[in-house]
This record gives sequence, C-alpha cells and structure tokens, in this order.
Amino acid sequence: MKQIPAIINGQIVETSSTIPVYDPSTGEVFAESADCQAKEVGEAVQAARQAHHSWSRTAVTERSRLLRKLSVLILSDIEGLAELESRQTGKPLRQARRDVEITVRYFDFYASAVETFYGIAFNLDESTNVQTIMQSHGVTAHIVPWNYPLSILARSVAPALATGNCSVLKPAEEAPLTACRIVELAIEAGFPPGTINVVPGYGETAGATLSSHPGVNHISFTGSVEVGRIISHAAAENLIPVTMELGGKSPNIVFADADLDRAVPVIVNSILQMAGQTCSAGSRLLVDAAIHVPLTDRIREAFTRVDIGPALADPTLGPLITAEHRDRIIKMISDSNSILFGGKALQGGTLGNGYFFEPTLIDNVDPAGPLGQEELFGPVLAVTEFNGIDEAITLANGTDYGLVAGVWTTNVSTAQRLIRETIAGQVFVNTYGASGGVELPFGGFKNSGFGREKGAEGLRSFVQVKTAVIAT
Ligand code: NAD
Repeated sequence: MKQIPAIINGQIVETSSTIPVYDPSTGEVFAESADCQAKEVGEAVQAARQAHHSWSRTAVTERSRLLRKLSVLILSDIEGLAELESRQTGKPLRQARRDVEITVRYFDFYASAVETFYGIAFNLDESTNVQTIMQSHGVTAHIVPWNYPLSILARSVAPALATGNCSVLKPAEEAPLTACRIVELAIEAGFPPGTINVVPGYGETAGATLSSHPGVNHISFTGSVEVGRIISHAAAENLIPVTMELGGKSPNIVFADADLDRAVPVIVNSILQMAGQTCSAGSRLLVDAAIHVPLTDRIREAFTRVDIGPALADPTLGPLITAEHRDRIIKMISDSNSILFGGKALQGGTLGNGYFFEPTLIDNVDPAGPLGQEELFGPVLAVTEFNGIDEAITLANGTDYGLVAGVWTTNVSTAQRLIRETIAGQVFVNTYGASGGVELPFGGFKNSGFGREKGAEGLRSFVQVKTAVIAT
C-alpha cells in the first residue's frame, strides 16, 4: 500500500498513526497518509521560520529559476501526478491531467510575474524621497480541500514562495497524495530545506494546530464556510491576515435571446465537472420564462448522454468523494417532486462499490428553499424561472454566496447591467469558467470569502508594503 509521509525541513517524517485514503471509484483503501499532530506541525513551522531568513533574502531571479525548474519537473511527471490526482479525488483522468497542466502554469506564471512586481519610488518634495518595498509575511500556511488538491495548492504556494515566504501545506485528509509529491519535486528542484513543508493530517488536529500556531504569519484557506469561520477566529487571535476562498451557489442566467447551442454544453459542463464538487460549479440555472421548456429539454437530453464510470476509465462523470457525501445529497433532494432527470445513486456492474450519482436536473426550485440556497456539491442542477431582468438580478444575488455568475445574452446592454449589478467575484458573459483561469483574479463576495488569489493580483496577498522615507 502506498505510504504518504510528512515532509519537514527536506526530510521524510513518519507518524505513529496513519490515515486511510479511499479510492472513491471503488470504495477501497489504496494509500495511507501521515497523521500529523501538534509536534510535527510545530516542527514544520519552525523549519519554515528558519528557512525564511535566507529565502527572503534570495534574489528574485533565483527564486524564479527554482519555480520554473519545479514547473518543468511537474510537467515531466504529468502522467504520474494525473493518475494520483484522479485516483484520490474520483476526477476523470483527463480533468486530472488538465489540473496538472494548470499547476505547471501557476509555477511558471508566478516565476515571471514576480520579476516585474516592484514597489514604487517618488519624490515627496524636493528634499524627500519615498520608496515602497514589498516584504514577505514570513511563514504562510496553506490549508487545502480535496476537490482540486493540486491546482488550489499551486495557486497560493507559487505566489507565496515567489515573494519570499516559506510554506507549510496541510492537504485534505481525503486527498493528500499529490501535495506530498509536489514537495518531493520541489526538493528535487533545489528549494532549500524548510522552504516548503507538508503535514498531512486531519483538519481538527493538524489543520487546527497550524491555523492557530503563533509562528504562522499568513493563512491561505480554501474550503467550506463552516471551517472558514473557525480559521478566521484563529487568525484573529494571532492578528494575522487570511485569504478565504469558500463555497458558492453560482448561477447561469439565461435570457431568451441567448445562443442556446453555445450555452447548453457549457452549462452542462459547469455542473458536471468534478461531479459538481467545484466551488464555482454552475449549480443554479436561472432561466427566462420564454425559454424555460426548450432549455430544460436540451439539458435533460444532454444528461442522458453522460457516461459515468471509474475515474481512471476517464468518463465524463466520476464518483462523489465519499459515501457520506453521496448520502447527504440523496437526503437533500429527497423532498423534490420535480426531478426532470436523475436523482439516484448508482452502484454495481462496472461501478462496483464506488460513490456514483446520476446527473440530476430539478425544475421549479424554490429560490428561498434549501435547494436554491445551499451548496449541494454534487451533479445537481436547480432550475428557477425569471420574468424580466430585474427579477433575474434579484434571484442571482439572492443567496449568501457570491463567487461566480454566468450571463447568457446577445444584448450588450443586458450583459453590461448584469456585470455591474451581480454580486460575484467573477462574471462570465456567454461563457463560464476559464479552464483554470491562472491569469484571472479569483475570490468571493459575501460568504464566498475575501481576498483574491490567481493572476498578478494574487502576489499582493503574500506581501506587506513597507514605506521608506529618505531625507536627502
Ligand atoms: P473543508 O472546509 O471541510 O476542509 C478544507 C480543509 O480544511 C481540509 O484540509 C480540512 O482538513 C481542513 N480543516 C477542517 N477542519 C479544520 C479545522 N477545524 N481547522 C483547520 N483546518 C480544518 O472543505 P472540503 O469539504 O475539503 O471542501 C469543500 C468546500 O471547499 C466547499 O464548500 C467548496 O465550495 C470549497 N471550495 C472553495 C474553493 C474556492 O476557491 N473558493 C475551491 C474549492 C473548494
């Protein structure tokens, strides 16, 4: 059985207990990871602190060189990493391969972006010069969920390392394999010991110790609202900055003048990618009353053609992450009386004991009820009809979340109004998502979080600005 250790200060560290890692496609344990406790987390923070002294003084060109070297090593191991990512998450193999490519892009992108990330200098008056300096925080903690373990790790670790921080990663207990492999590759690339450490473990132990550790200077958290609140409290105690990338209940808003040939495949993909277990999943369909029936007919027809299977067989739709999660979704939709398609768990035959669930289309969803408000995190699309642009905007903004929105219209004025008035960190017009969107600042409004990752903007989260004033 594959053993996944902690890696602290460049060394492999075994723990006295381990955590089983399940393959969601089969329901079987296929690996065991370290179960880090306060001791290992403390050692990792200490190692990062020691490494920070010289890493923060290392020339930017050298930091960039190592990031680029790491990106090359990741690319050269694309098949191995994709297989691990696919197996531990249940993600279809080609999606996993794509996630590895996005991970490569993050290390490459921030290697370049940091080379032009300067402070400013100006004359305050004729005898006073001012300069601003971008200074690293110190030790950055990265607490990551199970749905996109590689790309979410990379989008915060790459800018953190680029700007001179040293990192401690806490992957999700369900999917720790690829985070550990990235740290191995970072060591092979030549990152000094302690620059990047990984402490697999449970959230309530390793995660809680890391987020409340007084030696941590910044937390980048991606996960649920519930845990985001706990971590925000811990950060408040230590008065350190946090980036909160939380959940969503994002709408695709389709007006009667939309090009449905273009919209349908994108809407379908936005709810089926990673079996709907994506923070930015297009889980609500807000549809103009005039096209309600033709649009839902087309989506239902598209759902009938979805192939479902084990992740490594590379289907369109893989399994959910755990049996408990599948059962929670079954319970949440159990009262629905307008299921147009799907709604059932699938097992047996080629699906064995995996945690599979049909693509599901639910019509006439009450926007104020649980299906219209709560993040189901499954391949379940909730349809609600609107009449007119004002109602569309009210419905779009009518949840506690504000992560992403898709607007489908051929009317430029409608599009511009939706861009202005939709409360969401990203608004897409006649498209949805951006294949990873490495260059695009990303983050939420309202309960979807705060702070931004990705793009050049992502560098700012990992520095503090120091202002120097020089009298000449
Ligand atoms: P989760 O909040 O349960 O876990 C996320 C991470 O936090 C895991 O590593 C977990 O071990 C750790 N954790 C759990 N309890 C902790 C505690 N008390 N202290 C410290 N760490 C703790 O989330 P999940 O189920 O892994 O992921 C699904 C959620 O993540 C969804 O809500 C989804 O929308 C969200 N998500 C958001 C984004 C984004 O970019 N906005 C991306 C992906 C997922």
